Amino acid sequence: MPTITLVQGDITRESADAIVNAANSSLLGGGGVDGAIHRRGGPAILAECRRLRAGHLGKGLPTGRAVATTAGDLDARWVIHTVGPVHSTTEDRSGLLASCYRESLRVADELGARTVAFPAVSTGVYRWPLDDAARIAVETVRATGTLVTEARFVLFDDRAYGAFARCAG
Ligand code: ADP
Repeated sequence: MPTITLVQGDITRESADAIVNAANSSLLGGGGVDGAIHRRGGPAILAECRRLRAGHLGKGLPTGRAVATTAGDLDARWVIHTVGPVHSTTEDRSGLLASCYRESLRVADELGARTVAFPAVSTGVYRWPLDDAARIAVETVRATGTLVTEARFVLFDDRAYGAFARCAG
């Protein structure tokens, strides 16, 4: 079980073996964390995403799955892209959100990454309530068998940090 650590800040500034991107299915960039990673990481990441789309991910990366690219100009060695579910009030999609964390850790194991920085997947544009997203994130990471030694949640603002601190404390 990885040690869970929390920091407040910008995930693109983190030194970890891998940082996780809250991507969308297209893998071709977006706002929020995704935009920040591509801006700071430079064009190499997007070029690799395009190659994935031209190859086995022709239809895009399905929700709940994860795939790795190199990290361009970032300090990390790899970016693990995962697609969170859009929050729904009529359908329980929490299994898909848990899957983002599980699959990201599985990909990290394949890469040999030991420290992994995660954003609060789905809590931005995809509108997942922070407290619930934090609970799912922390519970899933705790329940996943992995060689990753540190799962670092990088929370952008006070509110997100507070929600994760209540769950991880
Ligand atoms: P999603 O589409 O999965 O909701 P977003 O990128 O819109 O993804 O938001 C996910 C979370 O990441 C939000 O809580 C947002 O405040 C936060 N966030 C945005 N930019 C950054 C950043 N540079 N580093 C860390 N977290 C960020």
